[in-house]
Amino acid sequence: MHFLITAGPTREAIDPVRYISNHSSGKMGYAIARAALEAGHQVTLITGPTAIDPPDTARLIAVTTAAEMYDAVAEHITSCDVAVMVAAVSDFRPVETARQKIKKSATDKSERLTLELEKNPDILGSTRGAMGFGGILVGFAAETEHLEQHAQDKLRRKGCDLVAANDVSNEEIGFDSDDNALILLYADATRENLARAPKAVLASELVKRISRLAIRRTATDSPATDTRTARS
Ligand code: C5P
Repeated sequence: MHFLITAGPTREAIDPVRYISNHSSGKMGYAIARAALEAGHQVTLITGPTAIDPPDTARLIAVTTAAEMYDAVAEHITSCDVAVMVAAVSDFRPVETARQKIKKSATDKSERLTLELEKNPDILGSTRGAMGFGGILVGFAAETEHLEQHAQDKLRRKGCDLVAANDVSNEEIGFDSDDNALILLYADATRENLARAPKAVLASELVKRISRLAIRRTATDSPATDTRTARS
């Protein structure tokens, strides 16, 4: 199977030297890419800027902004069977990027500078509709509160087969750490807890479950196994 995986943060430029971003290290996404490769799958890894080495055998597409990540996903997703969206995409970007470094003198009388932000495209939320993706779709939900409620909402709203939820308010399993703990919520309303473990271990457990979902989907879609068609 061919996996498309998004990983890492995105960066949204304020001026030539500053940007808006988040604490995503890319560790979870890269661990899933490695686990998928180890399980014999093909991997296209679309990654924002990270400080870690990507797996050699993945097809690597490096991007910086959410808009670039959107375009890369739209270009490659149609040739993939599974999409796992792990990237922590910046939800907002500056409406304008200053051409020159913003000077301190640009502040107003109250010593404040106001940045106007606009929404970035929702990549995961566009895969089913605008991108026409019919494969297995997996989202991540990194939340600091109401974890399961937000994750359930994402599962339904974004047309996912599976959402992996993790509590980033817990520093031991949050953004830059080597461990994680996941709650898996499936579209058929089942759920599963993957207890705290190294990200590499969780990644391989997740890839096993995603492969099972894909095999089940293929079996359901295949005309050879449709007994009603065979009999009629
Ligand atoms: O940021 P949020 O918690 O909503 O992210 C949930 C899921 O949506 C993640 O899988 C993330 O990769 C994806 N996402 C995306 N494009 C965005 C925001 C989030 O693909 N603009």
